[in-house]
Amino acid sequence: MSGVPILRSRTDLQTAVLGWKAAGEVVGVVPTMGALHQGHLSLVRAAKEVCDRVVVTLFVNPKQFNNPEDLENYPRTEEGDAAKLAPFKVDVLYVPDGAQMYPDGFATTVSVAGLTNVLCGAHRPGHFDGVATVVTKLFLQSGADKAFFGEKDYQQLQVVRRLARDLDIPVEVVGCPTIREEDGLAMSSRNLLLSDRARIPAPMLHEVMQDVAEGLSRGKAFGELKAAAEARILRAGFTEMDYFDLRACDDLSVLDTPDRPARLLAAAWLAGVRLIDNIAVPPRLD
Ligand code: AMP
Repeated sequence: MSGVPILRSRTDLQTAVLGWKAAGEVVGVVPTMGALHQGHLSLVRAAKEVCDRVVVTLFVNPKQFNNPEDLENYPRTEEGDAAKLAPFKVDVLYVPDGAQMYPDGFATTVSVAGLTNVLCGAHRPGHFDGVATVVTKLFLQSGADKAFFGEKDYQQLQVVRRLARDLDIPVEVVGCPTIREEDGLAMSSRNLLLSDRARIPAPMLHEVMQDVAEGLSRGKAFGELKAAAEARILRAGFTEMDYFDLRACDDLSVLDTPDRPARLLAAAWLAGVRLIDNIAVPPRLD
């Protein structure tokens, strides 16, 4: 027994939340696909700090996988996840199944225009429609006042902010910093899929991004740095870059110099595993 109350039905979740809200309690939700690591747990910690009640959701959302093999290989570790949550005393671990989320006849898609046709959206057709649809459902099912998402998935964070605003969902979306391994690799459930050998060059993605950020802060344009940076990542053992861009934080438009709040974002393949990362770039106002 993990000690964390697990609910599998939407109506049970809604009943619990209605009771809390009637008592004037602030409810937070932390949506995850499980295989929990310190990155996820940092969101739980952030939620516990500012909410009276915290619901963690665990659902490997088939609609956001554009590749059936990726969906099949995605790690599923519910028991271990519940054990990791126990010390945080979360109020509910909500684990709906596919039929609960997408019953027969389910026909609605939430689609956020603009923000979703670049970066990961350009390489994973349908991915952000799947994310937007499930997150909208989780917001409505949980009735949460606050929702906690990682900056690790920066484009996702901006998409979720946009949909909450556009659909008048009364939830505050809180972005939390990326948690990294000691060598700089951003924590990700997908890191479990890397062999010991493939794990060695994995932190190069972040290291190169940091060097590019430093080059930008010294006055170089991104266009002067990009090709050499990509070549370094590939030389380290990555097999393919999906993208390596400098983009504006708010609308994700392409930049060559960080003359407004900007982020470097990258996605690259290592031994058949797709890794993504992003870092803030200090604005240069000269
Ligand atoms: P996932 O289970 O991969 O869908 O992630 C669930 C949530 O955890 C998302 O909001 C992610 O952005 C967040 N997350 C994943 N990895 C990290 C990390 N290394 N640091 C902070 N948040 C993370």
